Amino acid sequence: MSAQIIDGNALAKKIRIEIATRTASLVAKGSKPGLAVLLVGEDPASQVYVRNKVKACEDVGMHSILERHPADLSEEKLLQRIDELNQDKSIHGILVQLPLPKHIDSHRVIESIAPEKDVDGFHVANAGALMIGAPLFRPCTPYGCMKMLESIDYPIRGARAVVIGASNIVGKPMAMLLLQAGATVTICNSKTRDLSAHTKEADILVVATGKPKMITADMVKPGAVVIDVGINRLPDGKLCGDVDFESVQSVASAITPVPGGVGPMTITMLLLNTLEAAERI
Ligand code: NAD
Repeated sequence: MSAQIIDGNALAKKIRIEIATRTASLVAKGSKPGLAVLLVGEDPASQVYVRNKVKACEDVGMHSILERHPADLSEEKLLQRIDELNQDKSIHGILVQLPLPKHIDSHRVIESIAPEKDVDGFHVANAGALMIGAPLFRPCTPYGCMKMLESIDYPIRGARAVVIGASNIVGKPMAMLLLQAGATVTICNSKTRDLSAHTKEADILVVATGKPKMITADMVKPGAVVIDVGINRLPDGKLCGDVDFESVQSVASAITPVPGGVGPMTITMLLLNTLEAAERI
């Protein structure tokens, strides 16, 4: 058996066309969705991420601002700037690129973003809303994974889902979204005993650990859908996921590639969250 490849680039492109159409109709009514992206410091990977996010906004007709601040920007100055953006009517979404320099308290910064502009969905108010099943914003990466499952019409209700990784930005919200969609969910982490025993039970396996190719074919139930969130750079410069794609694709019924899988969906969901924030006003 060779798995269906869930093409994140193609799905992202399709969703971005819909976003562009909805954006144009808001613009016609006099309101242009706007995203502010704040970067502190010169981390090279973050520079690429923020540039991609801002370009994606422009491509769908949204307003965006990219602010680059020096690494020694004080926490107070950053909080002050976020407060101004919270009041700015042309801005519907605020994203502070993580990680922040060590002298800045990331939690305090995220909590200073108005929840209705927190398009990453990281504010405790939004994490709590997701937990009780009334999300305002779904965190972008797990939201993108759900759209990928939707795109293959996967019957999530009643399925056994295993999420490996329990971070606040991927693993935990992913598990919540699957639970709300009716799956029976197990969350594994680095302390989990006998990981294979869990993964082999999964109809849906979502992997977000940051450990290159850690999931091999023998750990996967035949016919499972495998969503690989990981992005790892190998010594030869190539990117790979947390799943050993070559071996697992012969066991799974559907699988996301890296690159070209979850990655392009994440930015697309950021656009969707920004659009929805603007539509609510
Ligand atoms: P994190 O480091 O915050 O969390 C990793 C989680 O994996 C932890 O809960 C840890 O306990 C668990 N873990 C680590 N090793 C494990 C093991 N051997 N067995 C079981 N669990 C294990 O990472 P994160 O921010 O959630 O990101 C995870 C991966 O996803 C990274 O590769 C990251 O680059 C990638 N990522 C991709 C996107 C995207 O858009 N595709 C977005 C966010 C993160």
